[in-house]
Amino acid sequence: MEHPENDDKYIGLTVNSGVTQPPVVNPYLKRHRKKRIPTASEMVEGIIKGDVTMLSRGVTLVESLNHDHQILAQEIIEKCLPYSGNSRRIGITGVPGAGKSTSIDAFGLHVLKQGGKLAVLAIDPSSERTKGSILGDKTRMERLSVHPSAFIRPSPSAGSLGGVARKTRETIVLCEAAGYDNIFVETVGVGQSETAVHSMVDFFLLIQLAGTGDELQGIKRGIMEMADGIVINKADGDNIDRARLAQAQFRSALHLFPPTQSGWKPEVLTYSGYYELGIDEVWKMIDRYFEHVKSNGFFDRQRSEQAMYWMYETIDDRLKSDFYRNPEIAELLTQKEARVLSNRQSSFTAARDVLDIYFNSILKK
Ligand code: GDP
Repeated sequence: MEHPENDDKYIGLTVNSGVTQPPVVNPYLKRHRKKRIPTASEMVEGIIKGDVTMLSRGVTLVESLNHDHQILAQEIIEKCLPYSGNSRRIGITGVPGAGKSTSIDAFGLHVLKQGGKLAVLAIDPSSERTKGSILGDKTRMERLSVHPSAFIRPSPSAGSLGGVARKTRETIVLCEAAGYDNIFVETVGVGQSETAVHSMVDFFLLIQLAGTGDELQGIKRGIMEMADGIVINKADGDNIDRARLAQAQFRSALHLFPPTQSGWKPEVLTYSGYYELGIDEVWKMIDRYFEHVKSNGFFDRQRSEQAMYWMYETIDDRLKSDFYRNPEIAELLTQKEARVLSNRQSSFTAARDVLDIYFNSILKK
């Protein structure tokens, strides 16, 4: 083989030709390399024993778009359900740079010091583009990622926000069955994803920053209303006074909100995730919340409502995807679009016609 590097002008550099590789090192190994997928019962047995490899494989099936994997995943989820529910589910949100990963690392270690196991999951609406980068890089949680009692899983990457969120909710079931008694669900603070996380957690923590002068700007009212706790991060060094000021502003803003359904008054605290200041106070607040909602029955009521929410979400999702994936409907929609755009038919009668045809075709089946 010719190597251009061996030209005289590159003095001192010689490249030797490599050795041609045999086509297969060991044909026997290659044939047997593909792992057999364990049965649902084998997986469930492993998951309940806390086998992390089985848990990861189960989650991979939950996230898979392959039809057969989905069927297997649903069977695993059903079988794990009786062992689930026994955890604190905590949602954590904040804009990029608010310090979510630094804080989760600190909060996580704090929780694990008290024993038990922690799973960190994520819902990242941008993951379709970035392939789950929000937690993809495990180095974001340096200490947790090497902790034997922590299970970190990046956001499922495929599909709509609803689809991604549903997979995370299903993953919660598997993690709980595997004995994870603390579940963190992280999301980046950009809007709709908070609603999705809120619908699957018991406590919703909003991480904020001080020092921008107009703290309350840019935070959607709806997100503040969902928060059970607002924590102002980076309350360290020169930033302590500004963090306290922000705390006062948030406290007075919260007074304007209607009382929460849980009867819990959301608290505002300052802390530093990086320097680990005030972590214990944040955790004590979360403990107080759980005592409060468990004693007044809101904890169970919220979980039941969430279970209903996900049932209807799943129905909505299935109906919609079945409708839009129907080739006959797709063609009809193209025709109707043209008619509506050229004012030959109204939007409403066009929609009615398409739906009538869809429902009739279902009835005939
Ligand atoms: P995320 O995008 O919300 O996950 O934020 P990161 O955890 O990656 O933090 C963003 C930046 O803020 C990083 O440079 C952190 O080192 C820094 N940071 C995080 N927490 C603190 C804190 O408590 N104090 C200070 N001073 N910096 C922090």
